[in-house]
Parts: sequence; structure tokens; C-alpha cells
Amino acid sequence: LTYTVGVDLGGTKIATVLMNENRAIVKSVEVATEAAKGPEIVMTRMQGTVEEVLQGISADEVTGIGIGAPGPLNAMTGMVYSPPNLPGWDKIPLQAEMTHRLGMQTVIDNDANAAALAEAMLGAGVGTSHMVYVTVSTGIGGGVVYDGRIFHGSTGAAGEIGHTIVKQDGPLCPCGNHGCLEALASGTAIRRLAKERFGKDMDSRMVAEAAATGDKRAKELLDEVYRWLGIGLINVIQMYDPSVIVVGGGVSRIGRPLFEALEQVVASNRFRSADFPVRVLPAKLGTEAGMIGAALLPIGAWS
Ligand SMILES: [Zn+2]
Repeated sequence: LTYTVGVDLGGTKIATVLMNENRAIVKSVEVATEAAKGPEIVMTRMQGTVEEVLQGISADEVTGIGIGAPGPLNAMTGMVYSPPNLPGWDKIPLQAEMTHRLGMQTVIDNDANAAALAEAMLGAGVGTSHMVYVTVSTGIGGGVVYDGRIFHGSTGAAGEIGHTIVKQDGPLCPCGNHGCLEALASGTAIRRLAKERFGKDMDSRMVAEAAATGDKRAKELLDEVYRWLGIGLINVIQMYDPSVIVVGGGVSRIGRPLFEALEQVVASNRFRSADFPVRVLPAKLGTEAGMIGAALLPIGAWS
């Protein structure tokens, strides 16, 4: 058994890769998801990409297929439940359906967990067995790698750091709760705050640029956001006791000012002994983390 296949299923594109025994990507294919056409068509398109990367390779050389899909989903049962960006996917048995279609063992997991596994095995978290991955973009997602495996919890929803509540009666989160970390520190939150305070439509990159060129109010806004994010990370540290936290996603491209602020907030945690500092590192694999992680799923993501 030499190869695995990873499928990164997104709302706009399907990216599928073939990984060899050295965990290198040797082939990749990308197609539009055409999500509006519904689950049957999308699964047929996924099947097409898998068959394409496996051309010339016999089934007995393939360990398995891993699919990273948008949540909510249950990695243990292989069911996908109504992801916002995949219309018509209501209780779809994705794992069973793709195993049947491809005639090969298929595993699924949510895209943030797949990315977490990729960063732990081949990215910024290499060498650690306890790592938390946090992705900060439009929303805030996360994944916990515990003893070298993805930690799923009882329903597969473990590690949803974006929906830990950090401020009672805080702003409304898309999930329905108030004061989730995502409502206070995501790219969407930065945009909302900029609109409220400056009356302008600015994304996180624009706010960061303004702060870097000396705009005090922009810097203040970001300092608040970094503080919330840091509090979110402290909570994660208390819960999972990682040695490394890897931060990715669009907002992480702010770079050094963000990571310095996070390190500082995390270091201010009085509960944690200074003898065991937690490193906060930028993600290494960028947008490829999802597909690389999907290809790693069959190798031992969960048991
Ligand atoms: Zn929430």
C-alpha cells in the first residue's frame, strides 16, 4: 500500500490530491464544486477527481481515501449535516456513499480537523504530539491533535474554539449564541468593528495596514481583537494542554504584530507555569493544509 487520496471539498471548488509513501503530493486535480446542483452531482464530481488522480494505479496500492468537508459532520458515522455552503446536504451519508462509489475505504472529517492534522504531521507542528490548530478567517475554526490523533469528542464537534463563549452578552454569533470568540475576533468581526468605528468597509488586511502606518484607532481596534483571540487561546491551553498552537487563516496573514500580541497574552496566563511556555506559531501549509490533511486522514487520523 503506497498511496492515499485526499479530497478537499469546499463550497466553490473540489481539490483532490494523490499522496505517495513519502507523504509528498504527486498529482493534483481541481474542479468547480457546482454546489448549487446538490449532493448527487457534487459527489459524482468528487468521484471523477479521485478516479482521475488514480489513473494508472491499481486499487491494491491505495491505503484509502480521505475527504475533508465543511461541517457540521460526524467523522465517526460519516454523516454530513447541512453545511451552510453546500445547499441540499441534509444528513448525507458521505462516507458510505463514497466508499460504495469508489470501492475503496473512505474516511471523512471536517476541513479544520484535516488542516490541523496536516499542520501537526507536516507543517508548523512537526515534532509535537499535542497541538491545537486555530484558523481565523471569516469565521474561527479549530482542531485538536491529541497524542498524535485528531480529538473528536463524543459527537465529532470537539475543538470548535470559535464558539467558546468569552464575553457574556457579547455580539451575536452566526451560531445563535452571544459572545462567541468568532463574534469578537474573526475577520468578520474586524470588518464589523471597522464599519462601526470608522464608517468604512475595511477587511483585516486593510485595518492592519492602517495600524502599521500609524493609525492609532486601527491599532486600538486590532489590539482589542488580539486580546480576545489571546483569551480564546488561554482557554484552549487550559483545556487541552498543548505544547504548540498553530494559527492559520486569512487573518493570520497580519503576521508579526498578531503573533507577538498572542504570545504576550498567552504568556500572561498566571495559571500556567513559565517553565512550560506554549508556542504560538503561524501555520505553514496555507490553503493546501486542507487537501494535504485529507490525504493524511486514512493513515491514522482517528481510530
Ligand atoms: Zn458561535
